[in-house]
Amino acid sequence: MSDAMKVPFVTFKPLEKELDKPLRDAFERVYQRSWYIEGEEDKAFEAAFARYCGASFCVGVGNGLDALMLALKALGVGPGDEVIVPSDTYIATALAVTYVGARPVFVEPDIRTFNIDPGKIESAITNKTKAIMPVHLYGQPCDMDPIMAIARARGLYVIEDCAQAHGALYKGKAVGAFGDAAGFSFYPGKNLGALGDAGAVLTDDPAIADMVRALGNYGSDYKYHHIYKGNNSRLDELQAAFLSAKLVCLDRVNENRRQTARKYLEGMKNPQVILPWVHPDTVPVWHVFGVRCAARDALEKHLNGRGIGTNKHYPIPMHLQECYLDLGFARGDFPVAEEISETELSLPMYYGMTDREIEAVIDAVNSF
Ligand SMILES: *Cc1c(COP(=O)(O)O)cnc(C)c1O
Repeated sequence: MSDAMKVPFVTFKPLEKELDKPLRDAFERVYQRSWYIEGEEDKAFEAAFARYCGASFCVGVGNGLDALMLALKALGVGPGDEVIVPSDTYIATALAVTYVGARPVFVEPDIRTFNIDPGKIESAITNKTKAIMPVHLYGQPCDMDPIMAIARARGLYVIEDCAQAHGALYKGKAVGAFGDAAGFSFYPGKNLGALGDAGAVLTDDPAIADMVRALGNYGSDYKYHHIYKGNNSRLDELQAAFLSAKLVCLDRVNENRRQTARKYLEGMKNPQVILPWVHPDTVPVWHVFGVRCAARDALEKHLNGRGIGTNKHYPIPMHLQECYLDLGFARGDFPVAEEISETELSLPMYYGMTDREIEAVIDAVNSF
């Protein structure tokens, strides 16, 4: 066998090589100051990220799950309430709802985009529904106009889960500025990733921003004065400094991922493999390039055998997760989410993929 080229599912190396100096400088800057929590790096990153997304306020928090949970809390969502979430998402979306004491209500996605199907939201609304949490899954923006129209007509909050979609556009506007609040994750693997855990809440409402900040800082508005029984969830200075160094090249990173996706979409011609479909009103950022295939496990084996890394997003849908057995669902209750969990395969996607690597993935898919 010839020495086939290995293509990892993801690697941070190409970007880290380019940003070696700015990242080391960021560390030095913070270390020199010896100030690690709530300082000027936080302030600078929050201002820059709010501006980048077109929102009035950004509050840095500890991670993406906390961002969603604190946003829900700040909007007053709690025990007895229901929150509509997609049936196909990462578990954090649903867990954020559970942690504030509310109940996640699953709504099926549109199988073409993997995103919540706005046409199925209305029938899931009850008199307990307080909010809708659309997730811009895989970096593809949800169809926000119909979602916002339903929310406004029914008096519901909208909290966007933007953990996979930093910089993605819907009708020319960045995600995170459509709803009442938005949660971002800067987990290292996200399109904008820290060198550790980090997250943020965006909002245009100063009262929500203040409350999220207090809730993430022991419920304190000023030192040793506690108005809420809060959490400890803060963006630290080192991560904020790293994120500022990376934010300046986010557009370039996203454009690079789009070019890779374009090459995949043009080059892959295997009738067994269903390629992702892009809603014409959106500019996606391809956090995940997910294809669908009836023989998904065989395709995975074939690719892995040729040295190509793959992943599945997500192999077990929310309603069948062990931790949600208490919700009382069974197989068959959310057939679209189940279909995706059985057929989706994520292909290598990261900043700085070489043409040879991209070609190797295309060839491997076409030869299946
Ligand atoms: C990563 C992710 C989160 C959670 O982010 P963390 O920083 O890992 O807590 C939430 N929602 C979605 C859709 C995600 O992909």
